[in-house]
Formats: sequence, structure tokens, C-alpha cells
Amino acid sequence: MVEDQPVLDVRNASIAYQTARGPVLAARDVSLTVYPHEIVGLIGESGSGKSTLAYGIMRLLKNGARLVQGEIRILGRDVYAMQKEELRAFRWLHMSMVFQSAMNALNPVLTIEDQIIDTLQSHQPQMTRREASLRARELAEMVRIDASRLSAYPHELSGGMRQRFVIAIAIALEPALVIMDEPTTALDVVVQRSILDQIREIQKVKGFSILFISHDFSLVAEFASRIAVMYAGRIVEVSASGLLDGDSLKHHPYTVGLWNAIPQLRARQLTLSGIPGSPPDIQNLPSGCAFHPRCTLADDTCRTSVPDRWSRGKSVIECHRFEVEEGATHE
Ligand code: SF4
Repeated sequence: MVEDQPVLDVRNASIAYQTARGPVLAARDVSLTVYPHEIVGLIGESGSGKSTLAYGIMRLLKNGARLVQGEIRILGRDVYAMQKEELRAFRWLHMSMVFQSAMNALNPVLTIEDQIIDTLQSHQPQMTRREASLRARELAEMVRIDASRLSAYPHELSGGMRQRFVIAIAIALEPALVIMDEPTTALDVVVQRSILDQIREIQKVKGFSILFISHDFSLVAEFASRIAVMYAGRIVEVSASGLLDGDSLKHHPYTVGLWNAIPQLRARQLTLSGIPGSPPDIQNLPSGCAFHPRCTLADDTCRTSVPDRWSRGKSVIECHRFEVEEGATHE
């Protein structure tokens, strides 16, 4: 792995679902990079296109969805140029995914140990069953579950244990990139915290990169070093998480709206404000900037013209307000 080369490089990717009314773009002209050892958060409301993008990166799109523009490279390899067999070997070895629901991700009729062994042996056929079994024990230890639980079937485990084993399977082959799609959403806050701490510890030791998808801004702000904000299929801002705040002069109005909806534990005054309106119907997007019906700063330009991407300091923002700003550069 070349240290300054991105592990994940999504360039101008658009993903469309084929519907009776024609193709509908769920991800529109998305560009995103994840570098070695980096944790990048991807946030946005339900239906913003986060999971579609994740499935698109893994080339696991279903229900008539397909990449219609752009390219997706992992470790420099074009995922959509690979033959089926090549892709099968590449997936899990170099890129893996932790799905939203552990129950759906695990096979209900196989023990956890058999599922880990299957994953290992299907990508490393030279590995003996005994070696794979020893590796399964190491992985159980890594996610802090007693090895005796490897003989259990998924339904015999708690939600937290199942999710830990799903993470163990995702990192079994030590891929360069792990996509985590709302990995702790179904779990209670205490288990969520414990699993995130473990992911961070393992990530530090193993050094893989993570694309962490969530609708929970506060969680992602704490966990990731950079955050990409997605709205109506577009990434409207990418900023270092340490730079994020509710300053409307520095950030996209949608990012500011999400920020202001988080309770700030150290703030003197607790004033929360939501974002007015609801996310748009992606089959019928508003003209110009898709956020304009909900944006308090919208003007006529916003209603008629799609904003370009502008670099502002270390952030990249898609908003007309930054076009006129001194020092802002066109991406
Ligand atoms: Fe608001 Fe206009 Fe910026 Fe869109 S382009 S976020 S409507 S100010």
C-alpha cells in the first residue's frame, strides 16, 4: 500500500435505480477519498444515498441499481472493471463491509466458527481447517468474546455479540478498507460505545481504513477524523471533524443544521434547533441546490443553479455562498 495513495477513490460516481418511471439517481456525481489508516465518516438523513454509495463501492448493488457514471477505485483498482472471479477474490481480501443488521449478515444455520472458517478458507484455500479454527479464536479474542461462543448459532447470541462477530468476519482477512454501514444503530448506547471503542483499538493495531456510515452526527464527529456530509445523493461538504462547529460562515448550511441539532454537553446554554422541512423526494428533486427549500440562506441563484464544489481552507463545500468568498477555490 502506498501511504499517500487513497485506499478508496470515488470519482464523480452516480448510481441510478431503474424504476417504472425511468432511472432515479440515488447518488449524484459523488467524489470521496479515504487514505491509509484513516477513519472517514459519512453522514446524512435516511434516504440521502449513504447505503447506496456503500453498496456501490462494494459492487453489491441490487434492485436494478447500477453505476451510471464515474469510477470507484480501491487500492488503485477499478472495482467495476474487474471480472466476476477477480471481484470475488478481491472482496473481503481487500475490502469488506459490516452491514446494518447482524442478523441478516450472518447465516442462521451455521455456527459462528464455521462462518469464520468458510470466509477464511474461501479466500485462502491453502489454509487448513485447524489453522482457520485457530484464527477464529484469535478473532473472537480481538472482539472480546470468549472463544467458547464460537460454537453458537447466531440466534443463541445477544445483538451486541452478533455484531462483534460480524466485525470479526469483516476484518478476518485484514482488508485495507472496511465499510461500516450503521454498525451499531440497533444496539443500546452502552453496547454501542463498547463496540466503537473496540473497533478503534483494532483499527489502530491493524491499520486498516474505515468508511463509517451513520445518521448520528455526534457519534461520527467523535469517531472519524474527516466527515463527508451527504444530502439528496450529493456530498455537500467534506471537513476534518475537529474543524466542525455550528459556524455558518465556515460550513454548509445543512452541516450547520445537523450540528445545531446535537446536544452540546459543554455548552452553557442548551438551545437545540432542527432543520425545517423534510428531505426531498429523489424522484422529484428541487431545482438548483436541492437543499434550497430548507435553507434559510437561499436566494434566487440557489433556486435556479446547482452549486459547484469550493475549497475553503481544509473543507470542500458545495454551496453558492462560498463562490464569492475571498480565498475560496473552485474544485
Ligand atoms: Fe443554501 Fe444556497 Fe448554499 Fe444551497 S447553495 S445550501 S440553498 S445557501
